[in-house]
Amino acid sequence: MKKKHSYVFVIGGVMSGIGKGIVSASLGNIMQARGFRANLVKADPYLNVDAGTMNPTEHGEVFVMESGLETDQDMGTYERFLNLSGQSIDYMTSGMVYSSVIARERSLGYGGKCVEAIPHIVDEITERITQAERENRSDITLVEIGGTIGDYQNIMFIEAARVLKLTRPEDVAIVLVGYLPMPQHMGEMKTRPTRIAAQALNSHGVNADLLIARSAVAMDDKRRAKLALACNLAPARVVSLPDVKNVYGIPLELHRQGVDGELTKILHLKLGTPKFGPWETFVKKGNAKKPELSIAVVGKYFDSGDFTLADAYVSVIEAIRYSAYSVNRTPKLTWISAREFEGKKNKVAMLAKFDGVIVPGGFGSSGIEGKLNAIRYARTHNIPYLGLCYGMQLMVVEFARNVAKLKDAHTTEVSPKTKHPVIDILPEQKVLLKDNRYGASMRLGAYPAHIKKGTHAADAYKSSTIIERHRHRYEVNPEYVQQLTDAGIVFSGTSPDGILMEIAELPKKVHPFFVGAQFHPEFLARPLAPHPLFTAFAKAASKRGQKNKKR
Ligand code: GLN
Repeated sequence: MKKKHSYVFVIGGVMSGIGKGIVSASLGNIMQARGFRANLVKADPYLNVDAGTMNPTEHGEVFVMESGLETDQDMGTYERFLNLSGQSIDYMTSGMVYSSVIARERSLGYGGKCVEAIPHIVDEITERITQAERENRSDITLVEIGGTIGDYQNIMFIEAARVLKLTRPEDVAIVLVGYLPMPQHMGEMKTRPTRIAAQALNSHGVNADLLIARSAVAMDDKRRAKLALACNLAPARVVSLPDVKNVYGIPLELHRQGVDGELTKILHLKLGTPKFGPWETFVKKGNAKKPELSIAVVGKYFDSGDFTLADAYVSVIEAIRYSAYSVNRTPKLTWISAREFEGKKNKVAMLAKFDGVIVPGGFGSSGIEGKLNAIRYARTHNIPYLGLCYGMQLMVVEFARNVAKLKDAHTTEVSPKTKHPVIDILPEQKVLLKDNRYGASMRLGAYPAHIKKGTHAADAYKSSTIIERHRHRYEVNPEYVQQLTDAGIVFSGTSPDGILMEIAELPKKVHPFFVGAQFHPEFLARPLAPHPLFTAFAKAASKRGQKNKKR
């Protein structure tokens, strides 16, 4: 007998930013807890072929998959909620879909037919979804359609959902995520925008099977009944999802409201026994009040207010969270724009009050001297420091200038003519940039590294080989490795051929924790598997926190 496969499409109504990504990931999580193998697909309406060329201030973090594909931050949310690494095929943009169809047309792949959006684009989307199901060997594929109903841009994805539902009605569920606003002057929750969204979805020939109504506070039964009637749904299929402090509790809340049961009914599946144990323990840890771990994050993508900064560094924030919980601390992050540490009146001494400092990844020259000042302060004041990618490269620059006494040492990314290019472009990258080949061309994705015994890295990983995800064009210049090592820095992780420096640190007897990684450990941090390097940093920081309090 052929194995049954199910699809869940998640579509947003009313407006963006209501947490559709987290809802989709939570639906995947509860189906997984019910014993199904689930994978999550994001269908992004952008014409960008991937997210790599998007500015993080505008679009949020670029999440790098194991394969090296640069994707939307939702892919990170999926990996964290499912506790597994996805496949490239789990991410598609309109740009990707159209490029494939056009490339096939150019190679006569359509045999002389007129190539049209319908059916060819829709077929390409469906083909990618089924391919994702095969590559993940999953039972249920959840597809989050980016954007909101009413956008022109995502119509082809909605059409793909309609056609799949038409051809396999028992295997497809459509979930609408709406929003119930509560205008302050009325003090009343309004259902109309969500009802209109459901109607707009109907106008595409698609009826929602399940409605998840987001709102500031829980919805009452009267509104549930009203929405159910307007959306052709039984009240049990209208779910209230109010704002929560701890988003990791959402799968448990959906389970409490019987969403897993309803979904399996819609999909004609047998419901397995729920297994939420480890997730529940993690959620409890997040809810418990523990002493604070105060971490300063010194970066640059903070310019458009609170929302942007959280989005640009979402994996870093979550990685710190998991590791802080694992050392019984509640993380408290303070965002500091590196520019504050520049010029005569720079406020770098304010870092003394923090338990630890992080300089995350970045590009270009803005705020660089400020970051270097922050790193120097952390080094000379024994404050635990974790450098991520650019944060590692700048840690090497700071060390080169102030300890190895290589005057004006720099990265050639900022100062192409520096006398001491301690960080330089990877040789293969030089050619690419000369031809303006920017898209998907960095050193991307998972690479192995060897770890040196007796180091912080070795203590953290407890393994001599690791695999981590990368996204960079520059590296520690091999010509300076000996000089820097002689001055006291330890390259505790290197590529297997020994050419690329993947982790840099100061010896334990010199500094409690001063470590930088050329890769992005944050991409592998998971709620149920905190990242060892972040945990080692959190441990060192919590030690300092205890001492700070005693002072
Ligand atoms: N700009 C640096 C490079 O390209 C660091 C990149 C990063 O932090 N992701 O090498």
